[in-house]
Amino acid sequence: MRFWIILARSLRLRCPACGRGRLFAGWVRMNESCDHCGLDFEPEGGYYLGSVYFNYFITSLLVTFIFFGLYFGAGIRPNQMIVPLAAFCLLFPLWFFRYARALWRGFDELFDPGQNRADQERSPAAKSSSSGRHAS
Ligand SMILES: [Zn+2]
Repeated sequence: MRFWIILARSLRLRCPACGRGRLFAGWVRMNESCDHCGLDFEPEGGYYLGSVYFNYFITSLLVTFIFFGLYFGAGIRPNQMIVPLAAFCLLFPLWFFRYARALWRGFDELFDPGQNRADQERSPAAKSSSSGRHAS
């Protein structure tokens, strides 16, 4: 049940924790945290590297199904599909970029709920651990 709620929130580009705050302030630019519940949308640098895998996986899955669907279903030869499918492989990930990030953030919230809140970063424990990290 929780999985479907977080999935629906991610596909609406909303905060996975509360479903209210918007993940994106613009087409590409993300909000730093949820303006309703304070969930940090970028807990650390490079956090969204994993979203590239989501994007790649969905693009690969779709292009595979489209290829075999057109090949066996409509009898279209592979050399007729190469240009449209190559264009799909370039354009779809650009469009899906925001959803991949939203799914990645939702994935993290599903398996590690309530972590990475902006107010936790200001706590003394978080400060001491982060200062220790910088010292090393
Ligand atoms: Zn929120």
